[in-house]
Amino acid sequence: PANPPQHFIRQIVAADRAAGKHGGAVVTRFPPEPNGYLHLGHAKSICLNFGIAVENSGRCHLRFDDTNPAREDPEYVQAIQDDVHWLGFTWDTLRHASDYFAVFYLGAEKLIRLSLAYVDDLDAEQMRAYRGTLTEPGRDSPFRARGVEENLDLFRRMRAGEFADGSRTLRAKIDMSAGNINLRDPAIYRIRKVTHQNTGDVWPIYPMYDYAHCVSDAVEGITHSLCTLEFEDHRPLYDWFLRQLDLPGDPALTAPLREKGQWLPPSTPQQIEFARGNISYTVMSKRKLLALVQDRLVDGWDDPRMPTLSGLRRRGYTPEAIRAFWERIGISKQNSSIDLGVLEACVREDLDARAPRRLAVLDPLKLVIDNLPDAHIETLQFANHPKDAAQGVRSVPFARTLWIEREDFMQQPVKGFHRLVPDGEVRLRGVGIVRCTRVLADAQGTITALHCTLDHDTRHGMPGAERKVKGTIHWVSAAHAIAAEVRLYDRLFNVPDPDDDSNGKTYRDHLNPDSRHVLRGYLEPGAANTAPGTFFQFERLGYFIADCRDHAAAQPVFNRIVTLRDVWAQ
Ligand code: ATP
Ligand code: MG
Ligand code: MG
Repeated sequence: PANPPQHFIRQIVAADRAAGKHGGAVVTRFPPEPNGYLHLGHAKSICLNFGIAVENSGRCHLRFDDTNPAREDPEYVQAIQDDVHWLGFTWDTLRHASDYFAVFYLGAEKLIRLSLAYVDDLDAEQMRAYRGTLTEPGRDSPFRARGVEENLDLFRRMRAGEFADGSRTLRAKIDMSAGNINLRDPAIYRIRKVTHQNTGDVWPIYPMYDYAHCVSDAVEGITHSLCTLEFEDHRPLYDWFLRQLDLPGDPALTAPLREKGQWLPPSTPQQIEFARGNISYTVMSKRKLLALVQDRLVDGWDDPRMPTLSGLRRRGYTPEAIRAFWERIGISKQNSSIDLGVLEACVREDLDARAPRRLAVLDPLKLVIDNLPDAHIETLQFANHPKDAAQGVRSVPFARTLWIEREDFMQQPVKGFHRLVPDGEVRLRGVGIVRCTRVLADAQGTITALHCTLDHDTRHGMPGAERKVKGTIHWVSAAHAIAAEVRLYDRLFNVPDPDDDSNGKTYRDHLNPDSRHVLRGYLEPGAANTAPGTFFQFERLGYFIADCRDHAAAQPVFNRIVTLRDVWAQ
């Protein structure tokens, strides 16, 4: 929108621009770790970071935070780019944190030379014990007093691969009694002899997130580093590293980037935290989503029930709806869980405006119009969209034998049932009014066909066309309809907070066993003959998309995106 609603981050950015901070520039970044597929929560961060850049004629970078080689995979690097593009955003610069390994290293040597970092020989468990607790100050490591030369020598030998994994750590020398535990001499580098997807075996040491992240931000000229609330307590450390390193004032640190053509004017970025997006009836941790995939509890990262962007895309959720959803939710510092219904409402709103209408029958029951000749075939013209004439019209074949929805007939109608009943009348969508004259059933009592007569006087253009009956039902011509596989999806979890692990349960115990139903239905020809990824409203049934993997015009496969109304809000 031209005038998006205000929130505190937009206000900070506007004030900074007005004050000429960062020379008036606005540069943001989206920094995923390539250890899984992006999910709806990431979309919040993507919309925020790219949105702020677009609104301020600024730039947004895509940066792969690939400092943890053991969990990362090139498959994810590609999928993340596809998903960001699909959401509707383009980055100005694509980087990997690993592009800056040489800068991180030079920065670490600088901290050592400033007596602000030391090599510690404590192992992980000892370090934890020395760190203290919230109520108890930490204690200095016996190696904290090492001199600059010894530290430099040891760090260089760490870098040369002389020491075993975990045997030594480079730590910042800050304050072991700080109230904020993040400042109690946090680790900067650890030894890990792991092959990295970009740098291979060049580095036996890898920087820690808190160090690598702020330095990456600064060397890219990021002005506003937007992150989730868990990092609020890390902000003093973010600022401490950048203050000590002074990347804008020390060209030697970024010299390696000039050689690679990756140099940008370094900045002093400001970290700003906002609340994570959480949504009911889903889990949104890559670790848990990966487990669902690996244990085959879903059919892969793009299973239409997954909260991943690739899953939502395959399900038929539109990028427009996801962007509108996060805009509607807004940005705050208040953690909360958002009702999945809000997202579904955004999807309905978008699709109602855009989706062409089609006729489909998912649970077919035969209906024969006795007062039409056997060979009767007609081509009816139906509007593609009731509120958008620009979408034009389509031809729908109509004949004597139709499929209707089994649930649109009741032999012994319950009170308030306004569809077809024995000897009752109903309007066939776009045709006219039929009366049910005969009900056929098999030996078990299952209804096999309905016989009806059409009141020709109620057909389009006839004097009785406006005659009212209570119900209108949809249909397809049995001779023309195309058989299709239709997949109906429901929530993957059957409780609002599947992450709740009280009572010894885990999210796996909350999986909804009925989250997918596969039906054989019938489509009007104009729904079947379409490209994968096309969405429609199947009248009275919901919004559906031709599955991007399995659909073919001759063997259609559709996924239900969402029902027409919120069937959960009752
Ligand atoms: P997960 O816990 O699912 O693995 P993560 O935060 O570890 O998520 P990253 O790849 O590091 O995953 O995330 C990239 C960016 O997306 C980060 O800036 C992170 O803050 C943001 N992000 C991740 N999840 C959410 C969320 N639920 N809401 C808002 N932003 C999120
Ligand atoms: Mg992360
Ligand atoms: Mg994570």
